[in-house]
Amino acid sequence: MLLALLLWLTGAAPAPPPPSIEMTLDVDATDAPLRVLHAKASMPARPGPMTLFYPKWIPGEHMASGPVPNLTGLHVFAAGREVPWRRDLVEMYAFNVTVPSGATTMTAQYDYVISPGGAFGASPSTNAKIAVINWYTVGLYPMAADPASITVRTTLKAPHGWKHGGSLDVDRVDGDTIHYAATSLEMLNDHPVLLGEHFRSIELWPAESPVGEHVIDVVADSDWALDFPQKRIDAYKKIVLEERRVFGDVGHYRKYHWLLTLSDNLGAFGVEHHECADDRVAENTFVDDDAAKRSSQLLSHEYFHSWNGKARRPGGLVNGGYEKPMKGDLLWVYEGLTNYYGELLAARAGLITAQEWLDELASDAFSVSEPGRTWRPLQDTADSAPFLYVSGGLWNGWRRATDFYNEGSLIWLEADVTIRQLTHGAKSLDDFCALFHGQNDNGRVWMKPYDVTEVYDTLNKVAPFDWRGFFEKRLTATSADLPLGGVERGGFKLVYTDAPNMFTDPWALDGSLNALASLGVHVTSDGLVDNAWPGTPAYTAGLSNGMKIVAVNGRRFSIDELKRAIGATTSSTAPLEFIVENGSYFKVVKIDYRGGARYPHLERVAGRDDVLSAIAAPRVR
Ligand SMILES: [Zn+2]
Repeated sequence: MLLALLLWLTGAAPAPPPPSIEMTLDVDATDAPLRVLHAKASMPARPGPMTLFYPKWIPGEHMASGPVPNLTGLHVFAAGREVPWRRDLVEMYAFNVTVPSGATTMTAQYDYVISPGGAFGASPSTNAKIAVINWYTVGLYPMAADPASITVRTTLKAPHGWKHGGSLDVDRVDGDTIHYAATSLEMLNDHPVLLGEHFRSIELWPAESPVGEHVIDVVADSDWALDFPQKRIDAYKKIVLEERRVFGDVGHYRKYHWLLTLSDNLGAFGVEHHECADDRVAENTFVDDDAAKRSSQLLSHEYFHSWNGKARRPGGLVNGGYEKPMKGDLLWVYEGLTNYYGELLAARAGLITAQEWLDELASDAFSVSEPGRTWRPLQDTADSAPFLYVSGGLWNGWRRATDFYNEGSLIWLEADVTIRQLTHGAKSLDDFCALFHGQNDNGRVWMKPYDVTEVYDTLNKVAPFDWRGFFEKRLTATSADLPLGGVERGGFKLVYTDAPNMFTDPWALDGSLNALASLGVHVTSDGLVDNAWPGTPAYTAGLSNGMKIVAVNGRRFSIDELKRAIGATTSSTAPLEFIVENGSYFKVVKIDYRGGARYPHLERVAGRDDVLSAIAAPRVR
């Protein structure tokens, strides 16, 4: 559909690409410390119009996030000479050329420059010691060709002495150049690789073990960051066993590698793939117990996606390549169910305690209690995912963000509790996962699309119930009420106390303060209000998104000063007084608030069955 429109607009119809294409991709990462990758792609060509395409809609990122602005230095050659190119006026990811007579191949040479900004794989991916190679960032290919039918022979030249990791099959290594086994373009893009000076490969389970090869490949800014305590490695060994148990001890992959990047300047996120995950967190994450707990859901989340998201994928997210839009309407299954299990399995494997898992659920609930839920139904956060992922923090409380993650945890918890109660403890949501996802253990990389009816039908096989009504009610609600049925029927209630909850800002590296449950604001370490919820004490007093607090009760702003002032409101008789910078203007804001510091937690309700503790119990002994 998009292609037909494009050709009509550009007027020149390229010949259809052949059904199978063999191409080569050579990536030179020796300048990774200079923040640039050099690439050369060669592919068959025949005389006439031809279009090169830069991957646009990226699987796992759910949006048109291919970082085409970073494609630079493009030169195209055919029949021994340079060929001019012109970007398509409608599809900015397409480059039109005319292949000269006599040419049988075309070669494109270009750079990928590392720039600030961008989300996920498009965010900065190299520094002085590390390079994460996502092939799609350096992967021009013939437009309209099916990436699954393109065979690519790929080489990667690393900076001298750097080591490499990943689940992409290696054919041979010559010095600093890695020659990968030929694979499809689709599989290549699904297998990013790591390069780094400080590298460690942690074999959780060897290939000959009953569960097969499971490895954490780590690059870090320092060797210090690679010195994981053995107890953490043992817990990740359990993650493999606990996750596979949910799916009936079957996996569809040949091997699985986590690509773990530990750096304070390469972002914090994870992106899933069939046989690996690109996980990036702060440098100290695996050597510091507190940081390790805060990020404990990351590796289990991305691993869960190998089943839920990669092997089983919503039909709307299957676009047959990188050219056609993706539809995110079922991200509440893809990401919501994964968010629930990513957090839960960290508890079952012992990365966090059951009590800490309850704190994580409380934080999930609190994070979606924002005013925006009164106008934007959860379904629309999934439908709008292609822009909500990158809409920024300011006004997130009124806009809502990608809440299908955290609210997904609450709703799938309620589904889990419901199944357990309907079946008197005989069945659980794990049985749904085994039926829905655990359908293949041939060790093949496979993908089977689904629609929402299959989700409801499979739940009905586990425990007959009006599952369509259950989910539609929660997905379409525009209400301040939170979906806390799972928490409450699980024997707990959501409360607020002055005890901090480490999961309210699990990824924060920057010393910011989450005062959303008290004043209704989130404040960065330099005083910027980067989230203010309408209807809360601070907003009502005149403190809004994008303003900067410069003084607290007459003293120069600091996060510690702000924390002390909020804590003192329980015994103070005067309002909090801030001097606030709003552009080039200053004003005094007085907030009449007496509640002290407030953080969310789950509290046991006496006399009710404790279903949540049963859910958190390990299944593998
Ligand atoms: Zn995810």
